[in-house]
Amino acid sequence: MSRIASILLPLPLPEAFDYAEPEGMELSVGDQVAAPLGPNLMRGVVAALRDGAGVNRPLKSVQARLDDPALPPKTLEFVQWAARYAVDAPGQPLAIALRGARAPKAKPHKVVELTGRAPARATPARTKVLEAAAAAALPPAELARAAGVSGGVVKGLLDDGVLAVRTIAPAADFEMPDPHRAGQTLSASQAAAADALRDLVRAGGFQVALLDGVTGSGKTEVYLEAAAEALGADPTAQVLILLPEIALTQAVIARVATRFAAQPGEWHSDVAPPARRRVWEGVLSGGCRIVVGARSALFLPFRNLKLVVVDEEHDGSFKQEEGFIYHARDLAVARGKIEGAGVVLASATPSLESLRNAETGRYHWLKLAARHGTARLPEIGLVDLRETPPESGRWLSPPLVAAMGETLLRGEQVLLFLNRRGYAPLVLCKACGQRMTAPDTDSWLVEHRYSGRLVCHLTGFSMPKPAACPHCAAKDSLVSIGPGVERVEEEARSLFRQARVAVFSSDTVFDAREAKRLVETMAAGEIDVLVATQAAAKGHNFPKLTLVGVVDADLGLRGGDLRAAERTYQLLAQATGRAGRRDRPGRALLQTYLPDHAVMQALAAQDREAFVAAEMGERELAGLPPFGRLAAVIASDVDAQRLEEFCRAMAEVAPNTPGVEVYGPADAPLSLVRGRRRKRFLVRADRSVDLSAYMAAWRARVRPKGATRVAIDIDPYSFL
Ligand SMILES: [Zn+2]
Repeated sequence: MSRIASILLPLPLPEAFDYAEPEGMELSVGDQVAAPLGPNLMRGVVAALRDGAGVNRPLKSVQARLDDPALPPKTLEFVQWAARYAVDAPGQPLAIALRGARAPKAKPHKVVELTGRAPARATPARTKVLEAAAAAALPPAELARAAGVSGGVVKGLLDDGVLAVRTIAPAADFEMPDPHRAGQTLSASQAAAADALRDLVRAGGFQVALLDGVTGSGKTEVYLEAAAEALGADPTAQVLILLPEIALTQAVIARVATRFAAQPGEWHSDVAPPARRRVWEGVLSGGCRIVVGARSALFLPFRNLKLVVVDEEHDGSFKQEEGFIYHARDLAVARGKIEGAGVVLASATPSLESLRNAETGRYHWLKLAARHGTARLPEIGLVDLRETPPESGRWLSPPLVAAMGETLLRGEQVLLFLNRRGYAPLVLCKACGQRMTAPDTDSWLVEHRYSGRLVCHLTGFSMPKPAACPHCAAKDSLVSIGPGVERVEEEARSLFRQARVAVFSSDTVFDAREAKRLVETMAAGEIDVLVATQAAAKGHNFPKLTLVGVVDADLGLRGGDLRAAERTYQLLAQATGRAGRRDRPGRALLQTYLPDHAVMQALAAQDREAFVAAEMGERELAGLPPFGRLAAVIASDVDAQRLEEFCRAMAEVAPNTPGVEVYGPADAPLSLVRGRRRKRFLVRADRSVDLSAYMAAWRARVRPKGATRVAIDIDPYSFL
């Protein structure tokens, strides 16, 4: 035998598999190959090659080397690093890295167009087709469907030369960005930060900068200058901009396209598979030089990555909670280190982790103090709901309603912020007191009035709202408890009958295009009151928005987990920062039952430093992040007994290591999900401990049986 190729497959397998390299194939590390697995052929990547002399066991042979270029060695290194860090199988991040490779290629497609020739014979059916063809260029079958006629009518018009078929080729190469175009005029504060970032990029190598600037201070323009420097200095350099929400991508893509006169690659779950394939191939070939995308863009096979920007770096959506569990901000820093690239973390409310790294000098700290242009920070007031509660069955307090009235009278806009989808978070029976829950999950069902359904936000389970209580059969006994955005919308409509009210949540805005449309409608002043979840709290500029009302400022504090206060501060600072842009002063009102809480006081005083100092102090005392590290083990099983035994066994073999404390097992707060019982361990470690290695060693000591599943979450954000 000549050589053995160790092939990494995009599957949750603990390690790479060995295959024989066929004579003459001459594989290299990173090559993409087809390898037999059971009866199938799978795409895999050569992770290592070694001499096969002395190996006697029979090995299957690599079937073929694929046409796609080899994965760059640093991409492969990153995939393996990420797996080790997350204590998961390397095939999991590899599957994300190969996602674009498995998408179908774009094909040329045919559309029908008018030729300008008049039909010899006009019929009502033919007229409908001509009208539909004038409205949009569609493929023949879709045109017939759009016109509501049979395919024969379209064919007849094609035969007569009234319509013609045109073939549209798939999009060609990516446009080359022009880094030498002039950017926007920067304020003094922006210019200073941009200079610092340019120096950092020019120096080259791995460095991290925290770009810390209040809402509206113009961070995007600043990091685009760093991108221009990277792209201009090296004709093959690539830049990645990561965003937490798909809703934000369109705005950032438009700004990148304007700045560099080239459309960047777009990467997120809404991008159609052929377009994804195009970005993946463009990134791998080096032709796609700027990518704007969601967290999984981090795994794209970049050839020469020189700059990674993580915008809104504090945002919890960067944490992937299912499947391969990772935090994109942390992995972005790791990828930057492996690639020798600069990393920019941008936020108006940086995470405590990043602030700590900036304070200790591990990150460069660039502060943007002044607001861009002439806009001023909003005035923030607390509405004490104990003093001025809303009327019974209502959620907007008299002071907020009065402020809304004044704002609307001036022809300005109101944003009501409530981070809760649907109509009511809880439905219960007033006859028997039973709460409506999902059948196989112990979470409450959320009422959605638009769809008339009760929905489990955790699993997606839904059912029509029953007419009678499923438990006691009482008729019309179900009552909706508490508000969601739909209910606040209803209240706003009833209070201000003339106002145009709209809802922005993931139930009303399904994709990037719909988000863009709603944002444009709001920006154009065609909405008076926008009721929104956090989807609208970020990044958008609405010049006529001068009042932000936070319906339930205490909502995020109720869970009481490690980051509850930090998250609440960040979210509400972002939401209230929407008020008042350009020359109009803004105002924000926070409805709270906890006006004395440190978070509310810090928000009202706009004193981030005091809040951060207090929060850091508490974390340091408890040895919690960023002063210590956490990991969670989530074990689950359909069989409660077997789960119990597994957790007991796991607890017994926890390695005894100085600086590490293991808590649990305990029932998870969500103790039943999709029919599986769940238990959790929490591990706290000093910063000096290699927590990933500790977790890997622990898990190796006990093997789950039957349907028991174990997931490890390094630096958990969810404690449910
Ligand atoms: Zn009942």
